[in-house]
Amino acid sequence: MITEEQAYHRILAATNPLSARRIALTDAANCFAAEDSFAKTPLPNFDNSAMDGYAVRVSDCARDKSLEVIGEQPAGVDRQLRISSGEAIRIFTGAPIPDGADAVVMQEDVTLGGSEISINTDVQSGDFIRRRGCDLAEGQKIVSKGQRLRVTAMAALAAQGLSEVAVGGRVTAAVVSTGDEVVQPGVSLRRGEIYDSNTVLLKTLLAGWDAEVRFAEHSPDDEQALIGCLRRAADNNVLLISGGVSVGQHDLVKSALAAIGATIDVWRVAIKPGKPFLFGKAGACHVFGLPGNPVSSFVTFLKFVRPAVLRMMGAADNELPLRAVTAHLTEDVVSDSDRPHYIRGRLCDGKFNTSGRQESHALFGLSQSNALLRVPAQTTFRAGEFVQVELWD
Ligand code: AMP
Ligand code: MG
Repeated sequence: MITEEQAYHRILAATNPLSARRIALTDAANCFAAEDSFAKTPLPNFDNSAMDGYAVRVSDCARDKSLEVIGEQPAGVDRQLRISSGEAIRIFTGAPIPDGADAVVMQEDVTLGGSEISINTDVQSGDFIRRRGCDLAEGQKIVSKGQRLRVTAMAALAAQGLSEVAVGGRVTAAVVSTGDEVVQPGVSLRRGEIYDSNTVLLKTLLAGWDAEVRFAEHSPDDEQALIGCLRRAADNNVLLISGGVSVGQHDLVKSALAAIGATIDVWRVAIKPGKPFLFGKAGACHVFGLPGNPVSSFVTFLKFVRPAVLRMMGAADNELPLRAVTAHLTEDVVSDSDRPHYIRGRLCDGKFNTSGRQESHALFGLSQSNALLRVPAQTTFRAGEFVQVELWD
């Protein structure tokens, strides 16, 4: 049995980014930038008004003085107006600042009479002018290679006039569930049978990272059937197999993988839940054998599959871990295991409490959780302690 860290490093060492591609910016959410992007257009691109009001010259703005309004500059095309001493120009938010003006006075601070205004406030140079490049300078980096494209970064790229972006490759995936007891929806259960929940879990987790799940099949615990299924499934970047990786005589995944010529780089990891986890390669396909218990499948997906998929998608190293936050523990959490135990629970308002039973079959408790607490082997955390939890939601 190897440690979590050893397994993680072996998996990442066997995983390379796929070739980059250009896609529509609107399709790029949660993809990873394939190159650095630098601003060609500063933001703002021209000095413009932050308010609806009047463009003025500060030196004219004594409180008792009137200014002649000589024109209007709405947002849009620059009318190339210019003001001289004693003049003002009606201006609107986002409109280019006319030549000669060095401040904008809000319309709320002005009294309008005919074509003249008087100003009822003190005016400083630069008031309500958004200067060219004050937000983003020309040449400044907007996005780094390997960074996840969050919606706000996509909007910043759109403000450069881009409609496409270079991102890492799209992962193709297969999901195979195993087990004679596992049946699909629509069939009524006979005693001893359970519905397949792992296929939904794993397909949805993959789809959440924009992987293209091209193959999903169930195999009974029959070596020939499983070999055929794995052969068809291995024509993808990743293959997730649920169940059948443990040591029982019905656990046929290892031998079926050997039969299709796969190598096995990791089998059995000191992690709870998830000890029987397996990783190997079938040709170019990265094969993950996830223990069938739903919580084991989930935890090993987050810890081992997710970082590998992100690496294939071109994610930088700092994008691979789950987001860790400090939480106030509301109850004692005891691990008498010889392996680090990932406790499922709920983080809410900075407080973490466990959700339901903590055995690896306990899907309902998992369904109430949004975070994991890693408790090292033989360790107790006390109520009131501050701990780091990993958010997966
Ligand atoms: P295994 O890893 O095949 O030994 O299965 C461990 C446990 O997970 C058993 O109780 C299985 O019934 C259960 N299990 C296996 N596959 C699934 C699945 N697709 N959905 C839900 N539970 C499963
Ligand atoms: Mg099984």
